Amino acid sequence: MSSQAWINLAYLLAAMLFIVAFKLMTGPRTAVKGNYLGAVGMAIAIIAACFEKPVVESMTANGSWPLIMLAIGGMIGGGIGATMALKYPMTGMPQMVALLNGFGGAASVFVAGAELWNASAAARPPADPLAPWTQFAIATALTGLIGAVTFWGSLVAFGKLEELPQFKKAWTDPNRHWINIGLAVATLLLIWGVCANPSSNLLFWLLVVAGSALGCTLTLPIGGADMPVVICLLNSYSGLAAAAAGFVIDNSVLVIAGSLVGASGLILTAIMCQAMNRSLVGVLFGGLGTTATVSGDDIYAGKVKSASSEEIAMVLEGADRVVIVPGYGLAVAQAQHAVRELANALEKRGTTVEYAIHPVAGRMPGHMNVLLAEADIPYEKLREMDDINPTFPETDVAIVIGANDVVNPAARTDPKSPIAGMPILDVDKAKTVVVVKRSLSPGFAGIPNPLFAADNTLMYFADGKKAILDLTAALQQG
Ligand code: NDP
Repeated sequence: MSSQAWINLAYLLAAMLFIVAFKLMTGPRTAVKGNYLGAVGMAIAIIAACFEKPVVESMTANGSWPLIMLAIGGMIGGGIGATMALKYPMTGMPQMVALLNGFGGAASVFVAGAELWNASAAARPPADPLAPWTQFAIATALTGLIGAVTFWGSLVAFGKLEELPQFKKAWTDPNRHWINIGLAVATLLLIWGVCANPSSNLLFWLLVVAGSALGCTLTLPIGGADMPVVICLLNSYSGLAAAAAGFVIDNSVLVIAGSLVGASGLILTAIMCQAMNRSLVGVLFGGLGTTATVSGDDIYAGKVKSASSEEIAMVLEGADRVVIVPGYGLAVAQAQHAVRELANALEKRGTTVEYAIHPVAGRMPGHMNVLLAEADIPYEKLREMDDINPTFPETDVAIVIGANDVVNPAARTDPKSPIAGMPILDVDKAKTVVVVKRSLSPGFAGIPNPLFAADNTLMYFADGKKAILDLTAALQQG
């Protein structure tokens, strides 16, 4: 069997591992195994790529230099990746994913740019009778555009998720739609230009510049509660850019892996849009979810009731059914194990305890499921929003821990609210609501929450973990 046949076989094996890995990642119990399998598949693909003819030819021509460069590149990239993975806390994962998406997009741009450079230097003849509209030129142009949009869009998303001061305020210039239309037209013309002159490096890099500007102008206006959709979409773009780069260098495993990421990202985007009752066009071009219409002072003045751990423990003692609602603050406080202890203490008294999971609670899809699984909270007790919402009127106490936007009744009641129409957990319908957070500060969407001033709400102002430990202690003493 020829060496290329072995390489193709290795690619096939890698592709199969990616597909099985994706399947395993759909369930929380098998996700870790899926992650490992995916990493093994990627290692096989990288090793096989090192035996590709151009790499081997380059080594024959330049001695061991390409190998040394490859090893140094691998060590630097691997070192940065490993440090980031170890350093970033769980709550910073979305930022890290945004950066990784962006790097994927940038890598695709450089692959396409280098291949174009080689092709133009070798004055490669058009490959088919449809020339100059060859697969190579179209794939190169699309890689440059999608990769650049992904890189800059992801950097902006990183800034927003990291809550950097420069990105705190969404860009709401009324002319932004015209700017976007202008940039879109420019990119279409440049794609046409690259395809008509496949040997022009200048047109390709101009397309990359226009794509970079588009990546920024498309992501800058999006803010608040709409960010989860953007993260999923950029993830999908990074896959599409990689798939297009696969066509540029004629590499099957890159096409397969890129298509898998692109398709799964698009599916996740659709799920997120549905979960938040938002259309993709609305998220991308609406620029909604960015500004509060009512101030916190108007809503809270004189109406917020704060309670002590002993008072809340007394309410819990009389409860038959308690629903725990986790949010981003639970992840910040790392209170998942404390929550498990509180649930154990309640269950010992005969109270039924369940958990209400909102699809965008936290800062990444599935954030709350991962967090609670870490504390060995049985998966059967985690109930999805649509399933648990009708049960809130029969719930004695809903304990909201570090959640804010996902329990904000303004989404239901205030048509002018930036989150109007977004489905929420109807905790306000429970007999008593206990909200654990440190202050009356808003959540990610930056809007006040009338739940904190509701008649049936008791606020417990403290760090999530400390609050839950104190509550458990008070309950056990009672
Ligand atoms: P929010 O961001 O709405 O609210 C989190 C709350 O946690 C804050 O109000 C904060 O209040 C509180 N908090 C922070 N630290 C602590 C702590 N140590 N102890 C106790 N409380 C704490 O979170 P939600 O989960 O309700 O909503 C998620 C939001 O993030 C949505 O707007 C969603 O669109 C967005 N988002 C979600 C993504 C996803 O994929 N899931 C991705 C990107 C954004 P205080 O400071 O007063 O303590």
